[in-house]
Amino acid sequence: METEFMRITVSVIKADVGGVGGHTKPSDGLINAIRDTVKNSADLLIDHYIGYCGDDTHIVMTHTHGVDDQSIHKLAWDAFIAGTKVAKEEGLYGAGQDLLKDSFSGNVKGMGPGVAELEFEERPNEAFTVFAADKTEPGAFNYPIYRMFVDALSNTGLIVNQSLAAGVRINIMDVEKAKIAELSLWEDKPTIEAALMYPGRYVVDSVYTKDGEPILDASTDRLHNIAGTYVGKDDPICLVRTQKDFPATEEVGSAFNNPHYVAGNTRGSHNMPLMPVKLNSAATINFCIPIVEALVFSMHNGLLTGPFDGFSTPDWDYIRENATKKAMAMRSQGFIHPATLVPSELEYAQGYKARMDILESKMKTMEGTVAGKKRENYEDPD
Ligand SMILES: [Mg+2]
Repeated sequence: METEFMRITVSVIKADVGGVGGHTKPSDGLINAIRDTVKNSADLLIDHYIGYCGDDTHIVMTHTHGVDDQSIHKLAWDAFIAGTKVAKEEGLYGAGQDLLKDSFSGNVKGMGPGVAELEFEERPNEAFTVFAADKTEPGAFNYPIYRMFVDALSNTGLIVNQSLAAGVRINIMDVEKAKIAELSLWEDKPTIEAALMYPGRYVVDSVYTKDGEPILDASTDRLHNIAGTYVGKDDPICLVRTQKDFPATEEVGSAFNNPHYVAGNTRGSHNMPLMPVKLNSAATINFCIPIVEALVFSMHNGLLTGPFDGFSTPDWDYIRENATKKAMAMRSQGFIHPATLVPSELEYAQGYKARMDILESKMKTMEGTVAGKKRENYEDPD
C-alpha cells in the first residue's frame, strides 16, 4: 500500500563545465558523461532529469535524503567532474570552469555549482517548475518573483487565493555580505521592494507560506565571492512549487512574459533583456542575450512526468521577438551606460581598470592645461 504523503526532496544542481566553440552549449559527449555518471548511481535517487540552458547543465533529482545531503551533492559533483573530463578531451571552451575546488568536501555549495533544493510532503498531484537561466546573475529572478508573490496586477491569485492573499515569507540574501533577511508580506512590502530594486546585491533566496510550507528555492551563490576574484556570472536556477496554495503554473510562467533587463550578456558586462527560450537551447551568438527556460514537472511518489517545455507555445515566439527588439535597442548604444554595467559589476573588471589606470595617469590638475587656462579665463576675464 502506498503511503498517503511521502516526504520527497527535489534537488536541482547545475554547472557550466564547457561549451562548444565558446559559451554556447554543452557537447553531446559532455552531456552523455554526466548522464552515465548519474545513471550509475541511480540507486540513490527515485528519479532524475538532465538538460541544459545555454552552457549550463542542470541535473534535476528526486530522492528521500533531504536537502544538503552529502551523497546527493557528491553524485552531482562527480557527474560534473566526468563532464569536465570530456570537455577537456574535446577542447571545449571553459572546461570545468564552474568547479572551483580540486576535491569534493561535503556539499557543492561554495564549490561553484548552483543548487536549488526543496524538501516537502508531496501533494497527491505535486506540480513544480524549474526556471534555468544563462548569461545572467541570481538577481535576474527578482522581477519575476516579485510578479508572482507581490504584484496582484500580474497575478490575480494574490487576490482570490486564500493562501497567497495572506502573504508569503520571502528570504532575501545580501550576496556581498552573505547574510539573509527574513521578510514577511504584507507588512514588509516596501522593504522587500527596496531590496529587489538592486538585483546586483539583494536576491531572493527562498519563499515560504506563512505556515512554513516551502514554495520556492533559488541558487544564490555568486562565483566571484566564492573564488575571491570574478570568474563568471553565476547563472541562476530556481525551483517553484505551483497550484493549490501556491501560484498557478501559468502565474509563475507569465511572470517572464515582459523580458526585463538583467545584468549579464557578452563578457558578463551588459544590461540586456531576459529572453524565455525552449528547453535545451544554446546561448545565441547574437551577443548572447540572457535566456531562461521553464521545465514544468508533475511528480508522484517522487517519480517525474515531464518536463513539459513551458516556453514552447506560439505566444512565447512573440515574447522572444519583443526580447530581441529590446536587446537590439539596448546594444544600439554600444558601450555607453546603461548598456554596459557599472565598473564594480563588470566581469572583466581588471581589463577596465587597466584602461582607467592610463586615464588616471593622464589626469592633471587644471592649472597648466589648455582646458584649465580656458576655465581660468572664463572665471576671471581680466
Ligand atoms: Mg552559463
